[in-house]
Amino acid sequence: MEFTKEGEEAASQYSNDVIESFSDRYQTFIQSHKTEREVIKGVIDALDGVKWVSDVDELHHGETYASKRHERNLAVFTYNGLDEIRAIGSHVDSPCLHLKPFPVQEEDNVSFLKSHYYGGIKPYQWLNIPLSLRGVAYTEAGERVTVNIGSRQDDPVFTIPDLLPHLSQEQLDKKMKDAVRGEDLNALAGNRHGDDEDDALRHNALRLLHEEYDLTESDLVGAELRLVPQTDPHDVGFDRSLITGYGHDDRSSVYTSLQALLTTSPSDTTSLAVFYDKEEIGSEGTTGAKNQFWNVLYEDILSLTDAEQTVNEVWANTKVLSADVTAASNPNFNDVQDKSNAALLGRGVSIKKYTGSKGKAGAHDASAEFTSSVIQTLQANDVPWQSGVMGKIHIGGGGTIAKFIANRGAKVLDIGVPVLGMHAPQEVLSKADLYSAYQAFSAFYKG
Ligand code: MN
Ligand code: MN
Repeated sequence: MEFTKEGEEAASQYSNDVIESFSDRYQTFIQSHKTEREVIKGVIDALDGVKWVSDVDELHHGETYASKRHERNLAVFTYNGLDEIRAIGSHVDSPCLHLKPFPVQEEDNVSFLKSHYYGGIKPYQWLNIPLSLRGVAYTEAGERVTVNIGSRQDDPVFTIPDLLPHLSQEQLDKKMKDAVRGEDLNALAGNRHGDDEDDALRHNALRLLHEEYDLTESDLVGAELRLVPQTDPHDVGFDRSLITGYGHDDRSSVYTSLQALLTTSPSDTTSLAVFYDKEEIGSEGTTGAKNQFWNVLYEDILSLTDAEQTVNEVWANTKVLSADVTAASNPNFNDVQDKSNAALLGRGVSIKKYTGSKGKAGAHDASAEFTSSVIQTLQANDVPWQSGVMGKIHIGGGGTIAKFIANRGAKVLDIGVPVLGMHAPQEVLSKADLYSAYQAFSAFYKG
């Protein structure tokens, strides 16, 4: 059991009730948590009273602790010494539209919000859909404000209107990448002048923002405000086997690894889940995987225990699954995948021995030893799995946080749920694959 490329579908390994109940809870999670900060908060809420590393004097075996950085980077672990650490790393950020520092503008008797897209999107996909405005800002007085417009039933939404077909002759003749550009992603924000007919439309939009949130235009300069898809996740298909929703990349990994950590209790290995921000823009900055967060965590752990290892020895004792989604074969686009090596929807969680593109550039290329040991763990625990390489060699490719962790000396392997339409406002995954990821991560933590 159970290499499923040519074999059985993942769903046949589990009862439908088990898959449905898990995916219902997952859908609630991604529906409620649509920004990187919201996802981190959702993880902390799920922990239900965890101890923070910064608040304790020593670590006790079998207890769960957490450490965070800037509300966008979090580690959760159940401590069982430092002879073996089994870790799963994933990312909480997803492609979206960030507001520009001076976002509120007007033209043609409408006000709008200017955006700068975040991550690798195809801009045309973000037109004509309802968008929710979410994030955090600070008032002049230093008060923190949490903005959330669009998540409640009676909230307004924002939307970026595309050009009508009747006037699109020139647009349709353009290359697809030029048809809708970054600067075209301006979302409608209003059409009324307020009490004073002569007052600018954008002033009315700013006035309403001030009334509701006490924010001025200059407060927006430093804000983290994002337009994210407003729509809820839905079951797809007559058989309800798939889920369309925003942010499967990479909240499917966040949710499954967290659930695995919380529901397994190994006695002689430390289980760790690390959640990073900024993966979609190259893992940069204080909350991305290139940072020192994980290293500092190990230094903190060493200072709170009588363990005698050095930090580098702890890294050498660390086995990591880099959990991130991969591309499933899409029958509408048949020539981009090497079908004999591509992941299929419904065939289980997918291992990627390497990522990168064109000669494995940018890949860390997992070792035969570690990859085989993970496969043996999956087989021994009857977890349906497959191997999926992303795309034909010359077509493109992609990376994950794996190489930044591997650089520290840990053993690392990429693994995750295959999706269709990655980075679109609605991505699609298989419920059975999602559940098999949870099973795979549980088996990995158990060792
Ligand atoms: Mn990802
Ligand atoms: Mn991505």
